[in-house]
Amino acid sequence: MNTAVSPLEGKVFMDSSFRWNDGLRIDRRTFAAGSAALLGGCATMSGRHYSGCTPLAPVIVDESRIIRTVAGLRPYRKQGFVVRAEALGEKRLVHNYGHGGGGITMSWGTSKLATELGLQGHSGRVAVIGSGAVGLATARLVQEAGFPVTIYAAALPPDTTSNIAGGQFHPFAVFREGFVTPVFMEQFARALDYSWRRYQIMVGDDYGVHWLPTYVKDGSPEAKTIATFPPINRMVSQAEHPFPDVTVFRYDTMYVETGRYLRQMTHDVQIAGGKIEVRKFATPADIGALPESLVFNCTGLGSHDLFGDSDLHPIRGQLAILEPQPEVRYAVQGQFGYMFPRADGILLGGTFERGVWDATPRPADIAGIVADHKRFFSGFRCTA
Ligand SMILES: Cc1cc2nc3c(=O)[nH]c(=O)nc-3n(C[C@H](O)[C@H](O)[C@H](O)COP(=O)(O)OP(=O)(O)OC[C@H]3O[C@@H](n4cnc5c(N)ncnc54)[C@H](O)[C@@H]3O)c2cc1C
Repeated sequence: MNTAVSPLEGKVFMDSSFRWNDGLRIDRRTFAAGSAALLGGCATMSGRHYSGCTPLAPVIVDESRIIRTVAGLRPYRKQGFVVRAEALGEKRLVHNYGHGGGGITMSWGTSKLATELGLQGHSGRVAVIGSGAVGLATARLVQEAGFPVTIYAAALPPDTTSNIAGGQFHPFAVFREGFVTPVFMEQFARALDYSWRRYQIMVGDDYGVHWLPTYVKDGSPEAKTIATFPPINRMVSQAEHPFPDVTVFRYDTMYVETGRYLRQMTHDVQIAGGKIEVRKFATPADIGALPESLVFNCTGLGSHDLFGDSDLHPIRGQLAILEPQPEVRYAVQGQFGYMFPRADGILLGGTFERGVWDATPRPADIAGIVADHKRFFSGFRCTA
């Protein structure tokens, strides 16, 4: 990594309580009212190009198109993720957990930091606890450094939180402003930089990683944050988009089809000789009984109980997934939630429910997500 030329150096990505989907779509009515007012002076045109309006294919939003609903628990710490080494009896234990709403994004970077901490001076086999995005990235980096690895995990893909994620490369809700240390911010910047570079070399169908333009209402706190990341971002004029909002911001980033990605990562670990064992650990003493002298803890929210980290809390997110629409080649986010188009479905999100431990989708919330998106997409000023 070359921090001197990092495009990410000095950027700040935080969980502020005003983020675009903070709370359970709390700004939904405000947004809907604003959209309706804007739409009042401007006819919606279907299937036609209209000067002053660049068409995009709208998502066909209807409950009948839902192919699955999911809910997952973001492993959130307002102090940010934990990447730290400590002794566990005779072993070295390196923590790598607590990535909040940005664990797909940050996984390679924090795993890089964790392996730098753990592997120095080590010889012999290595244990990785957890087989989500973070555990798999850690296992691959251990292998790339030349060490044999065993992953121990209570659940494997597709039954991890990482499989639920929308998969946008964006460090959303990774920490809270005012609660982080300068040391953490340095870790954060280095990790984000490594992840940004690593995902770029994984772009393509093998890992299900693709670039997409993403639109967000300008003036929203989200747009302000994104304005510093990634390098490809700018305001677009009203003539350049079909959305009802006057001021829209566009940035280009990568999207990870998490099911495909995690499957491929699991294969990569196995092809390189890695072992995978399904096993749940109840206490650190259970980990102490493992044969490996170096252990990486990548248990996500599991660290709340396993290591008694009371700073770690769930933030539930719920998604409705619609039948795929390959013609939809952009993502959009706003107070109504977000839409990420993937080969395995059109993801409509989402909720941001602090402290909720139940990872079951609630029909009433899903109906609300669908209704909000239906209103948004029916408001296009012109369509492809
Ligand atoms: C709705 C939603 C949308 C999201 N969207 C995005 C997004 O667009 N972009 C993004 O970057 N991030 C996103 N995230 C966040 C992301 O999903 C998480 O930050 C990430 O999955 C955390 O990865 P992980 O590997 O740490 O945890 P997990 O995927 O939860 O994996 C933890 C592993 O540890 C194992 N484990 C846990 N406890 C134990 C134990 N006691 N013993 C043995 N094994 C154990 C589990 O079985 C599992 O294998 C989203 C999350 C949600 C819920």
